[in-house]
Amino acid sequence: MSNPESLLHIDDLMTFMDASPVNFFAVETMRRRLEAADFICLDQSEPWTLEPGGRYYVIKNGSAIFAFVAGNGAPSDGFKIISAHSDSPGFRIKPHAEIAAPGGVLKLNTEVYGGPILYTWFDRPLSIAGRVILRSHDPLHPEHQLVKFDRPLLTIPHLAIHFNRSVNDGNHLSKQKDMLPVLAMINNAAERDNYLINMVADQLGVDRSEILDFDLSLYDTTPACLVGANDEFITSGRLDDLSMAYSALSALLESHDSSMTRVMAVFDNEETGSGTKQGAASPELDYILRRVCSALGGNEEDNLRAIAKSFMVSADNAHGIHPNYPEKQDPTNHPRLGGGPVIKINANCKYMTDADSAAVFRVICERAGVPYQYFVNHSDVAGGSTLGNILTSQIPLRGVDMGAALWAMHSVRETASAIDHEYIIAAFKEFYNC
Ligand code: ZN
Repeated sequence: MSNPESLLHIDDLMTFMDASPVNFFAVETMRRRLEAADFICLDQSEPWTLEPGGRYYVIKNGSAIFAFVAGNGAPSDGFKIISAHSDSPGFRIKPHAEIAAPGGVLKLNTEVYGGPILYTWFDRPLSIAGRVILRSHDPLHPEHQLVKFDRPLLTIPHLAIHFNRSVNDGNHLSKQKDMLPVLAMINNAAERDNYLINMVADQLGVDRSEILDFDLSLYDTTPACLVGANDEFITSGRLDDLSMAYSALSALLESHDSSMTRVMAVFDNEETGSGTKQGAASPELDYILRRVCSALGGNEEDNLRAIAKSFMVSADNAHGIHPNYPEKQDPTNHPRLGGGPVIKINANCKYMTDADSAAVFRVICERAGVPYQYFVNHSDVAGGSTLGNILTSQIPLRGVDMGAALWAMHSVRETASAIDHEYIIAAFKEFYNC
């Protein structure tokens, strides 16, 4: 094992975060890294021919990605799976978004995606990224292109304190009134029409009439960086959950072949309940695992035997004890930043962890030489949900919910520990290698 005390991955993690401002770009960043490591793209509408030890990946909707290294044992030997999610809370741009506002400015109509901390989005340099759908000759299969404006384009200006003297005593925010971003100064209302679509067309170098639709989101253009007197902390947008997607991918690329098939599954739409075709509540992963088993020569019984032998690490970030709000945490299980991977436990089964799977992950951490800790909700505080328990309704896997300890989850900028990511990558590698 490499020494996790040295921060081997942290610069690369920050590069990964900055290249991945929204779900579609997170998947594109992972796709490029997989291609560079000789992974082969599989088309779900075509037959699959797989080789033991072969490296493959599948993309769903451009926003979820599943990569695996086929096991070199029997098809029934099973799967080691690490799952994470590509999406983060924020703002999606609505159709017909342009609004001519007082003061000669153009603002955009947006819709909130998931549960962002709204006021962290004020007064920041924001930009736009996502997917644009273009005309093709096949009405069922229009062309998809990614677009990202690599410069600050928008800001959501806060109201001056002079117009709301009690703003610091608590300030209710309307998603429709308070949160709309300003895009441009315009000379007259007629300039408003198609302003955004024209910008997108120019950026892509296509005619405006080619653009049929889009999935575009706002993102904060401030790059990830280290903070702290000793660079102990990493601060970035979207650490939840791209830091875990990065850790899973790094471990997959750095681990060695085994008899079991090693799988990385990065789903979309966790922040809205996972209920899409590319989300964890769909049968997507089940279909992929079945096809892997059969393409390696297994039958239906082999597949069921493989599932019975499999284990999943559901990797999604956890709440670290907050220096200003220690009372929010459980009195005896409060993970700290820098304390290693956090095993998440919930009596009401919001997490898939049980004593058996927690024990498995604990031993993996021990073998990797990294510390580990536990998170359980304060009993008077309702916690969040994640991927693991949703996936087990599709595939009855053994598995553990875990993550890195984080502050300010769902802020436009979250903070975690730098060393925790080395610990987690070391633990994930041990999981794939053991
Ligand atoms: Zn998450």
